[in-house]
Amino acid sequence: MKTILTGIRANSELTLGNYLGALLPMVRLANKHSEKMNVNIFVPDLHSIIADIDGNLQKNIIRTIKYYLAAGLKINPNVHIYRQSYVPAHSELCWILNCIATMGEASRMTQYKEKSDGRDSCNVGIFDYPILMAADILLYSAEYVPIGEDQFQHIELTRNLAMRFNNRFGEIFTVPVKTAEQVEFMGISDGVRIRDLLNPEKKMSKSTAAENSKIMLDDDPELAKKKIMSATTDSLGKIKYDMFNQPGISNLLTIDALVTDTPLQDVISTWAGETKYGDLKKKVGADVATMLSEFQNRLKDIQDDEIFALFDLGEKYANEVANAKLREAQKAFGLR
Ligand code: ATP
Ligand code: MG
Repeated sequence: MKTILTGIRANSELTLGNYLGALLPMVRLANKHSEKMNVNIFVPDLHSIIADIDGNLQKNIIRTIKYYLAAGLKINPNVHIYRQSYVPAHSELCWILNCIATMGEASRMTQYKEKSDGRDSCNVGIFDYPILMAADILLYSAEYVPIGEDQFQHIELTRNLAMRFNNRFGEIFTVPVKTAEQVEFMGISDGVRIRDLLNPEKKMSKSTAAENSKIMLDDDPELAKKKIMSATTDSLGKIKYDMFNQPGISNLLTIDALVTDTPLQDVISTWAGETKYGDLKKKVGADVATMLSEFQNRLKDIQDDEIFALFDLGEKYANEVANAKLREAQKAFGLR
């Protein structure tokens, strides 16, 4: 049976952008395939600690899985939920892969360049995490790794490390499919990008300081309405989908289509010829508020115990699969 693997870092609260662009598509993909494929959903907690952590990591780890459930993830015996740090094989294989990866290829990672920003004082984890990511994938022979475009380079790195290892030591690792095929598998080639509410030229990001620029999943629905009402638009006075000239209005139309699960084209036609931005904002605000309150109600009903029970099952499975693959790699190196 083939394996899909995905994880989302649990460092902080998620935005509406993270939800609509990453969590929801992933949950839909998982539900679509989990009858016939393994779906591994893990909390990359070892990746979390490459960034500053604020003392809430434990809470955030549990909440991340609650988010998947509240977003509609269906649990069945093929869905495996685990914490990375509870499967020590990840760190072990990372070390082995460190010894076949080169400084050059790791230094070329855009995420490393951006996150380190040329500072010598940046931690070594920031440099090494793409190799840990390769271990996360290769331990489970995962072919499909649905991720955002900012991570494509890491999939290519994973493929290169797997092929290099296999060339030297025999066919041990399954090489994940190329990024083009990953995109095809995800079926979201047009890529959802929710924009910053105040600066719609930029994407919405959880690390942006201005509170009114982003909607958080735990925002009070009334507050979310206010944020939408204060969103930056333009002075053209027509409600038209035009990301280039009217990014703010286009962003509102996109958000409305996604939160109401309506095709974007239908939302665009509904507003064609209309001119009152206030009306559009009221409608989008109300729809976002409804979506948020439904999501938050589902979230409230999920108990910590449910999550721990999923971790128990998932971590047993993950350790079995990962340890078997790690053993093969250790043998190949002569470590066993
Ligand atoms: P940060 O500011 O810390 O980079 P972020 O909001 O960009 O936070 P990430 O942790 O970088 O979030 O990404 C988590 C996932 O959410 C990724 O799959 C990414 O592609 C997706 N994502 C992030 N921002 C958006 C957005 N505005 N619209 C759609 N998807 C998004
Ligand atoms: Mg980001």
